[in-house]
Amino acid sequence: MNTEFSEAEREAIRSELLEWYDRNKRALPWRGVDDPYAVWVAEVMLQQTQVSTVLDYYEDWMERFPDVEALAEASRDEVLELWQGLGFYRRAKYLHESAERVVEEFDAEIPTTKDGLLELKGIGPYTAGAIASIAHRLPEPLVDGNVERVFSRLRAIQGRPKESSTKKRLWDIAGELVDPERPGDFNQALMELGSTVCTPASPSCMLCPLRSQCRGFEQGDPELYPPTRKRPKQRPVSVATSVVECAETGQFLVIRRPDEGVLSGLWEFPTVEIEADESVEITGELDRYLDRSLPFDIQTRRKKRVGSLVHHFSHLKITLNVENRVVDTDGQARNFTSHSDRVGKWVDESDLDEVPMSAAMRKVYRKYDEDRE
Ligand code: SF4
Repeated sequence: MNTEFSEAEREAIRSELLEWYDRNKRALPWRGVDDPYAVWVAEVMLQQTQVSTVLDYYEDWMERFPDVEALAEASRDEVLELWQGLGFYRRAKYLHESAERVVEEFDAEIPTTKDGLLELKGIGPYTAGAIASIAHRLPEPLVDGNVERVFSRLRAIQGRPKESSTKKRLWDIAGELVDPERPGDFNQALMELGSTVCTPASPSCMLCPLRSQCRGFEQGDPELYPPTRKRPKQRPVSVATSVVECAETGQFLVIRRPDEGVLSGLWEFPTVEIEADESVEITGELDRYLDRSLPFDIQTRRKKRVGSLVHHFSHLKITLNVENRVVDTDGQARNFTSHSDRVGKWVDESDLDEVPMSAAMRKVYRKYDEDRE
């Protein structure tokens, strides 16, 4: 393997970084833990989510599902309920499915090698590297967004981290540098450095333990690395959403999204995509959708427009046109599976908080709630 560093440079980077980490690491509940399940949960939560947000979820999760068996025994709804608000719900779904697999196929033992870990759904090279190095103390590297930035500046790498040749180079550097004695601490130290010192804008180079090795710093403008890419524009999408209330029971109708695709498995008020310039009052799409979905007849007693709101969701800008309708179900308001295998149920208003829903649906409910006051 080509090496980027001399033996002396490698040793200096390892010892300076670890020394800095021992003095400066933040006290986080998943630090100092070598339970592979706990590391797995923390790392999955931390993907695409800030530490401050994860702090609100991690301890509740570990209390409710303290080990892989407890998670495997939980229902999908219980898992999604606890995950609500963390976003990127596929992470929770895969974590749950993989826990079931670990219990069924591996006698509840989480794999101890990187290759074994990579066989589990939702575990990619980063998460496998984290579990292997932190929990199993194997000298496995990892690269996340923070590490990409630190290495790009350290070596003044011109390529974008997502380009395959640059990606390979970054992983090679991580493999070359990882400390064989304290691999988990080394990897966490790199990520900590990236998130607290080598920040995307205005890095605090004067506080950095790697300054004397850093080409980006030496050249005078480390922020040039890694080169940034313009964010793709969010695609606009319009939907019509109906907050449907049962006139007889006062309950609300919610329908579960399919098991695959965006926001899979979460519940929503009946929602259907419409043309951008359609108004919720004139579109018949909601009526047709409800006719199609419900295996019994409903009669709309009254219907009114609530308003519209905008929700940004990764690559989408969604405009939700919200209506409220009160319906008679002739005593048939009950849980059901629709012709297209969508599952629906009627929920008391006081229980809506317990139903796993996306942030957009919570906004819809708030809008409806404000409108009736
Ligand atoms: Fe980042 Fe500055 Fe440290 Fe280089 S010296 S790794 S640019 S903080």
